[in-house]
Amino acid sequence: MKKNDEFELEITGMTAEGSGVGHIDGMAVFADLTAVGDTILAHAIKVKKNYTVAKAMEIIKPSPDRVEPDCPVFRRCGGCAYRHISYEAELKIKQQRVEDAFHRIAGLPLNIRDIIGSEETQGYRNKAQLPVGEEQGKIKTGFFSRRSHNIIGCESCLLQPEAFSDIAEQVRNWAEENHISVYDENSHKGLLRHIYIRAAKDCREILVCLVINGSNIPRAEKLWERISAKGATGLVINANKEKTNVILGTKNKTLFGKGSITDTLCGTEFEISPLSFYQVNRAQAERLYSLAAEYADLDENTVLLDMYCGVGTIGLTMAKKVKQLIGVEIIPDAIEDAKKNAERNGITNARFICGDASLAAAELEKEGIKPDVIILDPPRKGCDEALIKTVAKMSPKRVVYVSCDPATLARDCAVFADLGYTVPEENGKHFVTPVDLFPKTVHTECVVKLCCATHSN
Ligand code: SAH
Repeated sequence: MKKNDEFELEITGMTAEGSGVGHIDGMAVFADLTAVGDTILAHAIKVKKNYTVAKAMEIIKPSPDRVEPDCPVFRRCGGCAYRHISYEAELKIKQQRVEDAFHRIAGLPLNIRDIIGSEETQGYRNKAQLPVGEEQGKIKTGFFSRRSHNIIGCESCLLQPEAFSDIAEQVRNWAEENHISVYDENSHKGLLRHIYIRAAKDCREILVCLVINGSNIPRAEKLWERISAKGATGLVINANKEKTNVILGTKNKTLFGKGSITDTLCGTEFEISPLSFYQVNRAQAERLYSLAAEYADLDENTVLLDMYCGVGTIGLTMAKKVKQLIGVEIIPDAIEDAKKNAERNGITNARFICGDASLAAAELEKEGIKPDVIILDPPRKGCDEALIKTVAKMSPKRVVYVSCDPATLARDCAVFADLGYTVPEENGKHFVTPVDLFPKTVHTECVVKLCCATHSN
């Protein structure tokens, strides 16, 4: 195979990034914007030793999964990967991805349970972080393109509630009228970097946070007039004066209204401040947490350790069923929120520790804490091996692992297996359930139950 070769290719799988894959003489060929079941005319654009990247010049035979993409910036913006196939087909791909992670990465031949799909596949996000740019004197907001920091202008994103588009429009208009400068990554000049919006259920509360390369914004009252008319309940500025890809700085100032949102999850009320983590798909988060509670199988004697607890969402929704709850989280604002959230819900058996998961767990182990159940909900990179070893040393009856990355989840489950914690099964299916929190995108959430063979259950 060499560059510019053209050949017929049948697409038989998808990569974790959402590209189609086929094989020619045992060599993997990746082609973007294709679907499993397509036969395409492929044009080789990059030929490497082990793989080829091709462009689909023509769809010779379309996959039965195909649908017409409904977004003008699909695949140019870095958000969605699956707007050209049906939701059923997307769920199958996600199910397969979790299965492959366990079978191929971890060497654990588990029988995965059926993925829990989302009722809403559009408008489900409660959070947007829109980069602000300029084009021919006009301010534009949108999303970074898939492979660069070029801003793809997008005035209304189908994954977000309509109110977000209205608010972004008001911010653009206010910025233009008031000659607010726009941040430029190369020169590190200009004020307005990102519009960060977060909403409670049904947009009952909407917090608008402007990320700025500075300490203040001029004519803020004019902006507040505009956005409060569109449903905003708070306006916050976040100072980020660093030359960095990290979106948010560490300092917030509330200019108008309320500087956080309050939302209800599984019957528990949570206040969430801008720097604290909050699941972007509220309805599916409730299903995820309910499943985690089922796997945790708690009673009034349970000591529950909630690692990577954020504002306390998982642990606090379970706190009233257990004897004691301990939460660990690294972001100070999130821990402050968690403490207030315990109080707000009349929960008195909870203790929260701000620190790194591995270090805090080691401390708790030294203190002689013996949790019956440990929840792990790490970011994409998964858990440190040191943490997994400490968890095993604490000898809980059950570990419930909530993960947003099947690959690191499977890797960590293999480490657990070596330490005697395995995934039990019932009716031929193991307790591994993918939950689709991110329809149309490549991301997949998952819940796993791990039990120790030396405990009775
Ligand atoms: N369980 C929460 C948050 C999950 S997201 C929820 O469902 O809402 C993962 C959390 O881990 C984030 O809040 C992040 O701030 C936190 N985190 C990241 N690295 C950490 C570390 N090394 N130690 C402890 N917490 C960490």
